[in-house]
Amino acid sequence: MPIWDPASECLAPEKLRLIQEEGVRATLEKAYANVPCYRRKFDEAGLRPEKFRALEDLALFPFTTKEDLRLNYPYGMFAVPLRDVVRIHSSSGTTGKPTVVGYTKSDLESWAQLVARFMTAAGVTDEDIVHIAFGYGLFTGAFGLHYGAERIGASVIPMSSGNTDRQLMIMQDYRSTALVCTPSYALTLADRMEKTGLDPKSLSLKVGLFGAEPWSEEMRQELEKRLGILATDNYGLSEVMGPGVAGECLERCGMHIAEDHFVAEIIDPETGAVLPHGHWGELVLTTISKQALPMIRYRTRDITRLHPERCACGRTHVRMEKTRGRSDDMLIIKGVNVFPTQIEEILFQAEGCEPHYQLVVERQNNQDCLEVRVEVNDRIFFDEMKLQRAFIQELEKKLASGVGVGCRVRLVESSSIPRFEGKASRVIDLRKK
Ligand SMILES: [Zn+2]
Repeated sequence: MPIWDPASECLAPEKLRLIQEEGVRATLEKAYANVPCYRRKFDEAGLRPEKFRALEDLALFPFTTKEDLRLNYPYGMFAVPLRDVVRIHSSSGTTGKPTVVGYTKSDLESWAQLVARFMTAAGVTDEDIVHIAFGYGLFTGAFGLHYGAERIGASVIPMSSGNTDRQLMIMQDYRSTALVCTPSYALTLADRMEKTGLDPKSLSLKVGLFGAEPWSEEMRQELEKRLGILATDNYGLSEVMGPGVAGECLERCGMHIAEDHFVAEIIDPETGAVLPHGHWGELVLTTISKQALPMIRYRTRDITRLHPERCACGRTHVRMEKTRGRSDDMLIIKGVNVFPTQIEEILFQAEGCEPHYQLVVERQNNQDCLEVRVEVNDRIFFDEMKLQRAFIQELEKKLASGVGVGCRVRLVESSSIPRFEGKASRVIDLRKK
């Protein structure tokens, strides 16, 4: 299979290390000289950029968090004057001010290249018709994929999000071959197709490039089966660049992180200590090529682990596993860490469960209670209460042993749980009130 930029993607490890060390050094210097927030943090820690001599020294430097971006809203973290910034995006920010990110011309160039890399790795070529169903706007998803797909030479349909029936009509008429959206929206599309009797075989879709939210392997299988496509995962976040930070190759054994642009570390989210490869923890990224908004040890809050072993595809960059969830989404129930994706995996394996669910956590008698609401298809709404009860008990047992905490299962009718056009939000935590 073709590789977009073999000279960069298949670098020998020693060469890659040199590029990373040089890049970190230049980024630290630039950040210290131009961004007051970094200068203050380094000074407080008694560090100067010169302290960095080898990659291992990166761990000495302080983390950067979303809070730093908020405190320096809107442009305080930029390392270049605004006249050099040619694009501005921001994150949705459900609470408080959004975070603002900027790009110079050279940043946009790298971004398009990195998206072209992972799209090529997923099998997209200049023959493809790429249907982008991410919302166009301040969110980085749509524009990121858009310019990457154009760079490859594919035909791009800037569909944007919403209006599911129209999406399907255009997909059918324009013969879209590659679908770009969140996995939860892909599921919404599959549901709509089923409901309206639209046969996936009547579409030209071959591949799905799904990202912007954590999703399980079981969800992947579901989407592949129902849409008749190859479903691939990719990773990115606006604070660090947007989509294109990492993407899956066709070996599908994790997402290659573009290590010639980002240095990845895994830390213990509680203590901040760097963990060895292979351990689950929070992904921390340092940008080494970005001009407008350098990020030093940015805490992504995404939980994953890294695999450095050589991949059969020939790329040498480290692979990150599918994210298990965000440390922010992690529910602590009776002291046990629970990720929604863990519950999703179990529900998807149960016969009769639809892939739509909602988790409701509340406190009753000073105890955390987790209720799992799951849609079931008509075949499961047995007339016999006894069978239904047995089904629920079986599911509760599986969840308790798989997740490590007891919960109550409530079966709800098909289509009663809200559907999503963008990122899914499946948890209702009533304890926070
Ligand atoms: Zn690979």
